[in-house]
Amino acid sequence: MQISSLDILRCPYCGGRLELVTSLFHRRDGDEIHDGILGCQCCIFGIVDGIPVMHLGDDSTAARDHVQAGRPDLARRTLFSLADAAQAARFDEIAASTTSTYRDVVDVLGPSFEGGYFLYRFSDPTYIVADAVVRAVAGTVLSGGGRAIDVCGGSGHLTRTLSGLTSEPPVLADLYFSKIWLARRFTSPGCEAVCCDGNSPLPFRRGAFRYAMCTDAFMFIWTKRQLVGELARLIDDGRGDGALLVGHTHNERTWSPSHGQPLSQDGYRDLFETMEPRIFGEAGLFADVVKGGPLDLSRHDSRDAIDADPALTIIASPHPGVFAPHALSHKPAADGAYRVNPLYVAERTGDRVTLRLRFPDDDYEDEYGACREYLPAEIALDASALAALADGRLTTELRGLVERRVILHLPSRYY
Ligand SMILES: [Zn+2]
Repeated sequence: MQISSLDILRCPYCGGRLELVTSLFHRRDGDEIHDGILGCQCCIFGIVDGIPVMHLGDDSTAARDHVQAGRPDLARRTLFSLADAAQAARFDEIAASTTSTYRDVVDVLGPSFEGGYFLYRFSDPTYIVADAVVRAVAGTVLSGGGRAIDVCGGSGHLTRTLSGLTSEPPVLADLYFSKIWLARRFTSPGCEAVCCDGNSPLPFRRGAFRYAMCTDAFMFIWTKRQLVGELARLIDDGRGDGALLVGHTHNERTWSPSHGQPLSQDGYRDLFETMEPRIFGEAGLFADVVKGGPLDLSRHDSRDAIDADPALTIIASPHPGVFAPHALSHKPAADGAYRVNPLYVAERTGDRVTLRLRFPDDDYEDEYGACREYLPAEIALDASALAALADGRLTTELRGLVERRVILHLPSRYY
């Protein structure tokens, strides 16, 4: 973590400022703190691999004790739950390598981690809607400066979207150390990551951000009222033109897989005490993205349409530019390269290459089959275009396929 991030960090329990305890073990390289102990008035927290661990679960206090004892390697193993010695050694080897990928780490952590579909995340229907909404809302409110935070952001796929929108690095917060470690290393390099619990007060000062979001996780939060209050507190920067986004949260009125504990539209609305939220059914936003835009946030979905939609997007912002139609942006992130979507299998005949859409299994098709609405079943290209792509060049022909998500801009070390 950057030493300057201590300006926005606060203890989740006493609200006090935190200092690096320089009398205890720490490793610092210029402005970057790699490992160490942070102290406030009520307790101490560990920093492991540049990530402050701002809660007091059993693993985090054990990891903090390892840091204090000068063993940050054991702290990281603890936070990754690597109890098996051979697995831990293999993990350390991959973590030390400068050429390892996100997929290598996922492979070492085993099938219980992340599920199997991370590879296809950047073109799944939930992601493409969230990406468009984040670009529209965060792009609008951050155009005059300010900082963004992705709360419960997991392994940082949408933090990556935020990274192109501000000069200051976005902050990614999540309960799971392993996920934000992956984000910092691979998905959204350069983000600041903070390990904390979305069911507790968030460890940041009031007004530290102009944009705060929680996407695809809110239905799993028990203390929903507190979290909305916390997100509103984080964007209370005195200007009053920030935005709060709760993206892809499930709907109490319509069942969906991994349902969580969702609320109805009225239940969600009641969580917002200081701001007036607008609630969208995701189906309308998805249709906007599939037809190539604009993403129309000026719409007012009917109560019936919202009740019938399994997933909702909730936006609260006084900024006049937010609730308007937004052209879709495909501006690539700072880090990464264009590659063929891994859902396609290539077959070459002479100078032509045919790309065929192939799902990894039936479960994927059941859950994400709506991607057929934008991913063509089959597409033929000049082999020279794909050769140019391998050299990092995007021909005019392939540029159109970026909009279809046949060609994706992926992190450099993804798979
Ligand atoms: Zn404290």
